[in-house]
Amino acid sequence: MQQQISYQIGNNLYLSITDRCTLECEFCPKTYGDMKVKGYDLTFDHRPTAEEIIASIDDPARYDEVVFCGYGEPTLRLNLLLEVARYIKQQGGRVRLNTDGLCNLIHKHDTLPDLGECVDALSISLNAQNKEIYDLHCRPNLPGSYEAMLEFLRRAPEYVADVTATAIDGLEGVDIAECEVIAKSMQVNFRRRILNEVG
Ligand code: SF4
Repeated sequence: MQQQISYQIGNNLYLSITDRCTLECEFCPKTYGDMKVKGYDLTFDHRPTAEEIIASIDDPARYDEVVFCGYGEPTLRLNLLLEVARYIKQQGGRVRLNTDGLCNLIHKHDTLPDLGECVDALSISLNAQNKEIYDLHCRPNLPGSYEAMLEFLRRAPEYVADVTATAIDGLEGVDIAECEVIAKSMQVNFRRRILNEVG
């Protein structure tokens, strides 16, 4: 069976470019070895090249958005992500990046200027109103993850026009109203996600 690099949900095309992340979210099917989403199996047999990813996109302009998403954190492959995002923009597509917001922590420099050049919309997983609840559900491998995510969220609107913070309703201790207050205080949109719903 051929690896699923791109997959369509509604009128968006999603790109699965890595199966790695530095979080081990206890609510994520991937954590338990399940790589299926909406009938697609995102199991990896290799990490795709930029050429393979681009070849999997028929026409970027025919979708509402082309979304870097999947089970894994796309910004772990930052240079490849930027290359593919630039291609999508050149072809008239709109780019959204769904991210855990840990890009600057991982790459040890400010990645927002580069992202701002080729990403139209950012969806950042805020996930919790404080570090304690974040650590409980997201189980970060890197110290300082919650603080780094908040700083990334705070600075993102300087570079990307459309920024949304998300949190999942239904997780123990997660206060959705408080998450929304944090988002508003950073002048970004807020979206309440439903457990096990992708998009
Ligand atoms: S960062 Fe995303 S892919 Fe990784 S465990 Fe959390 S929800 Fe799953």
